[in-house]
Amino acid sequence: MQDSNGRPIEYLRLSVTPACAMRCIYCHPGTLDPANPRSLLSPDEIEGLVRHLVENHGLRKVRLTGGEPTSRSDLPDIVRRLARLDLHDLAMTTNGLTLARQAKALAACGLRRVNVSLDSLDPNCFRRMTGVDGLAQVRNGLDAAAAAGLAPRCSTHFWRCEGGTADPSSSWMSQEQQVSKK
Ligand code: SF4
Repeated sequence: MQDSNGRPIEYLRLSVTPACAMRCIYCHPGTLDPANPRSLLSPDEIEGLVRHLVENHGLRKVRLTGGEPTSRSDLPDIVRRLARLDLHDLAMTTNGLTLARQAKALAACGLRRVNVSLDSLDPNCFRRMTGVDGLAQVRNGLDAAAAAGLAPRCSTHFWRCEGGTADPSSSWMSQEQQVSKK
C-alpha cells in the first residue's frame, strides 16, 4: 500500500469498538447495539483482515484503538491472534481505567506497548474532563503497564480547570503540552 506521495503505508490504527466508560467533553463515544451482534468485527474477522494486509500489502504495525479497546471482553483473544502475525509492533491506545487489572494478561497475550490518554493530573479536573472519578485508577494502570513491560507512554493534552461555578465546558483552558512518561 502507498499513500498519494508514493510512500509505503505500513501502519494501521484499528478501532475495535466505539464503546467507552468515559465521557470526555471533546468526544462522544458510541455505544453498542446489543440487538445487533454484527455491530463489531469478530476476532476471526479482525485476524483475517490484518493477516490479509500483512501478507499482501506490507502492513507491519498495528495500533488497537476505540472507543476504549479494553471494554471488549474478547480483547485478549484479539491480541493473541494478532501477536502471531508477522508484525513489527502491536500497540494499544487506552484510557487506562482498567489497565491495573488487564496489563499483565495483555502483555502475556503479546501486546507490546500502550499509549494512555491523560487530560489532567488534578483529580477534580480529571473528573470534570472525563466524567469519571478515575485519575488514581489510571495512574495505577500506568504503573501496572510499566511492570508488565508495556512501555507506557502518556499522550496528554493538559487542561487547566478554572473557577468552578460556571458551565464546566466553558471553564477549561487548553494548554497543549505533549508529554511522555518513560
Ligand atoms: S477515553 Fe477516549 S474514547 Fe473514551 S470518551 Fe475519552 S476520548 Fe473518547
